[in-house]
Amino acid sequence: MTYVFKPAALPVVPVHGGGEFPVHRIYCVGRNYVEHAQEMGHSGREPPFFFTKPADAIVAVPEGETGRIHYPSLTKNLHHEIELVVAIGRGGRDIAAAAAQAHVWGYAVGLDMTRRDLQNEAKKQGRPWCIGKAFDEAAPIGPLHPATGALAAGAITLKVNGQLKQKGDLSQLIWNVGEIIEHLSAGWALQPGDLIYTGTPAGVGAVVKGDVMEGEIVGLGTLKVAVA
Ligand code: MN
Repeated sequence: MTYVFKPAALPVVPVHGGGEFPVHRIYCVGRNYVEHAQEMGHSGREPPFFFTKPADAIVAVPEGETGRIHYPSLTKNLHHEIELVVAIGRGGRDIAAAAAQAHVWGYAVGLDMTRRDLQNEAKKQGRPWCIGKAFDEAAPIGPLHPATGALAAGAITLKVNGQLKQKGDLSQLIWNVGEIIEHLSAGWALQPGDLIYTGTPAGVGAVVKGDVMEGEIVGLGTLKVAVA
């Protein structure tokens, strides 16, 4: 094949223990913890819904390092959302929740960075969320940990400049990983390399230039990202 210009590099996420996971797509679940749904003005009982980010929105942060994102354009209200990320290793469509674990390759700590002012304006106008959610560097992620089984419980926290801002437990997910995969694979054919950001617990808030975010999920390590 003769490309008319050099194609962009394939986005990859480093794997804990070695190797790199090539990213195909990024799916995100909206409002998947009751308290966060409530802080966004909803009851927390709606069926799951999804949005996407481009694969190259990934900012992969290797083990023990501090990643860096630039404060994005157009916003005055950049929010952190700490999330469990599920990596798909085996594709499929119409996957039943009970069979979903076999499709999971691994897990990571991720940040669904959000231009909240632009997202809120899009909601008000009935417009797509892309400009609020799918911008450059909007998906920081730590190393992937190969799955050894279902990840149904465990603390998920985010600190900003050492101060605790978000705190939850994976057991509080409204829709668990299997159910997310069931719903998602009804709408899209999942493929190896897909990442699913599974939603954030309560306590979202703004960061400014110079802030350092430190997210942690028990067993998956720490994701540290500075806003430059
Ligand atoms: Mn989110």
